[in-house]
Amino acid sequence: MPFTKLGLSDPLLRAIAEAGYTSPSPIQQQAIPAVLQGHDLLAAAQTGTGKTAGFALPLLHRLSQHHFSSNRPVRVLILTPTRELAAQVGESVSQYGAHLQPRLKTEIVFGGVKINPQMMRLRGGVDVLVATPGRLLDLVNQNAVKLDKVESLVLDEADRMLDMGFIRDIKKIIAYLPKKRQNLLFSATFSEEIRKLTTGLLINPVKIEVAPRNTAAEKVEQIAYLCNKSQKAELLCHLIKTEQWQQVLVFTSTKHGANRLTEKLNKIDIKAAAIHGNKSQGARTSALAGFKAGQIRVLVATDVAARGIDIALLPCVINYELPRSSADYVHRIGRTGRAGEEGKAISLVSHDEIGALKQVEKLIGSAIYREQVLGFEASAVAPPLPPEETRPPRQLRNNKMNAKQPAKFQGNAKTSSAKSSGSRRSESVK
Ligand code: AMP
Repeated sequence: MPFTKLGLSDPLLRAIAEAGYTSPSPIQQQAIPAVLQGHDLLAAAQTGTGKTAGFALPLLHRLSQHHFSSNRPVRVLILTPTRELAAQVGESVSQYGAHLQPRLKTEIVFGGVKINPQMMRLRGGVDVLVATPGRLLDLVNQNAVKLDKVESLVLDEADRMLDMGFIRDIKKIIAYLPKKRQNLLFSATFSEEIRKLTTGLLINPVKIEVAPRNTAAEKVEQIAYLCNKSQKAELLCHLIKTEQWQQVLVFTSTKHGANRLTEKLNKIDIKAAAIHGNKSQGARTSALAGFKAGQIRVLVATDVAARGIDIALLPCVINYELPRSSADYVHRIGRTGRAGEEGKAISLVSHDEIGALKQVEKLIGSAIYREQVLGFEASAVAPPLPPEETRPPRQLRNNKMNAKQPAKFQGNAKTSSAKSSGSRRSESVK
């Protein structure tokens, strides 16, 4: 999806182009329309996801649509835990708003430096104020700034603000704001304290959850096993056995695909269960409980079913098929990589999915390591599929590569025995 489809004004699109952004990140795709419509927002996202542009662009758009009053009251207030983040956010807001006419004024205030210069800068009024909570309260108490015309409040890195003991300051600041306003809350984690804060603060918020774009790629080992479509099930069984995975989440693109795979796994005594939209809530809950308790080794899920479920981070996530949208790939692999530990995200990629793999690589900004497993190597061209598989799955409809047209497979993959990552011996495929 291009930025032009999101409803942002031309001056903002110009600034986006100058920043070198070619397409919106997953959080931007979801947050920008919601914020433009005036909704409250609850976003699970951390630095690296593009969250700043996700809230700053639509807020600037809304601000520039309204009439400016001559005394420039603060209309957007962004609270951050640290001065570094305040400076970074303030800089981004100025950058994105560079071509708006008339110009909007942005100020940044934080503690640890003299207050007087900040008071002077606030005198002429500001449209967007980026602040750390303690210093903002000092400024309010000294009548250097008024908050009674704030239209939108952003709590950025709310979890860190609470960890740093800012809850009382935040509550005091909120008491100075008009009751009717838009509230956006960004947090990487959701503790009981955050939940309490959001309950009183957000009204019917749009909820967004994205995996951190850059850190996911760094913490999670991502591998694409190039293989023939008809051998995927066998390859998966082989991997589960040789790698001795005890708890694997496998994503398929269709409900039928999830059912078929689950049956195959159970037939060879790998205990598996499927969760997807056609399963009753009871069946989904019990599959999930069994998986969490270790009675079910493989949980086969579709993206939609997996999105709403609470599974702790897993050591391994498998893309049996690549998702239709690259953003879903980021969601999927965000489920692996336990804190401090490395996670693995493995994709079984057949000939018709090379285009999708490239899209994913474009989105995450890095290449995914390609390998082949001995005995399951991909043919140089796509082999014909068995009769029951010839109907192309839905994700192929927009794909230039058609399963019926033999496509030349992308090379420079390595062949591996897939025993374990440590002992994997690779050789080049000619
Ligand atoms: P943030 O998560 O807001 O701290 O942003 C992380 C980095 O991503 C910043 O350097 C941004 O300039 C950059 N960024 C934000 N949105 C995009 C985008 N759509 N395309 C490329 N880079 C982006």
